[in-house]
Amino acid sequence: MRVVMLGTSGGQPTPRRSLPAVAIIREGEMILLDCGEGTQTQIMKKGIGFGRLSKIVITHIHGDHLSGLMGLFMTLSLLGHEKPIRLYGPPALLGFFTSLKRDINLHVKFPLDIEVLKQGVFARENDYHLEAVSVPHSAPCMAVALQEKMRPGRFNIERARELGIPEGPLYSRLQHGETITLDDGRRISPAEVLGEPRKARRVAYVTDTLYNPAIVPFCRDADLLIHESMFATDMEHEARARKHCTAAQAATIAKAAGVRKLVLTHVSARYLDTDPLRKEARAIFPETYIARDLMEFEVPYRD
Ligand SMILES: [Zn+2]
Ligand SMILES: [Zn+2]
Repeated sequence: MRVVMLGTSGGQPTPRRSLPAVAIIREGEMILLDCGEGTQTQIMKKGIGFGRLSKIVITHIHGDHLSGLMGLFMTLSLLGHEKPIRLYGPPALLGFFTSLKRDINLHVKFPLDIEVLKQGVFARENDYHLEAVSVPHSAPCMAVALQEKMRPGRFNIERARELGIPEGPLYSRLQHGETITLDDGRRISPAEVLGEPRKARRVAYVTDTLYNPAIVPFCRDADLLIHESMFATDMEHEARARKHCTAAQAATIAKAAGVRKLVLTHVSARYLDTDPLRKEARAIFPETYIARDLMEFEVPYRD
């Protein structure tokens, strides 16, 4: 699984930073979290292609998080994109698309489903799900997480040999959780040769939000936490007034949640130099990175 920070500015873009968008790429699928203006060109620059795009989640109705949808959908239609895309977002998104069709004559030529983004698990696949929880901001807004399913425990080859299981397809059936029967009639259950189930990966995306300690359980143990960081601490008052948070506050959340890595994004256009944000966050949570456009983070398994 890898995470590409397509756009990392908050509110307005800068020559170096595009508006918010994050791509999660795993197992041949691409999930887009937010779609700020210029997301399609960022995808082109990064060379990750549109073909795998299957889901888009819009966290809230502010323009910086959805202004890229129109251009992206025009391009997908022109490219003859065929894979269905499911778009999750605030209720007003439905009206937005009705208007695009009616008033701008934008015809989406690929199968597009629009679903209202609700709290809890909103998309369930074989090996992962997506979940959302509401966060305090100046418009109703959702934090989103991708949670993979637990993985089977490690296969104990010595134990399998001791039990006289012949090497080959039976190993793989046990690994996939199947009880097998040997030629001599003995039945072997997966628990006899597999260790404890192993933790799967979690990526949490928390933007836009006021400093919100209530989000800690949602971020708990995440392998990657992408958190907004509109301001540095000297602007804390401004952050509170505009329902955003500071780099230090984001780092405090990361520390309390015991995440593995923190990526700060949605940085105000005022910060040409992001060093102050990095410094104050790292003083609290050393594994902090300030996202730059097109930066990529690999999310490895922990074992
Ligand atoms: Zn924003
Ligand atoms: Zn916002």
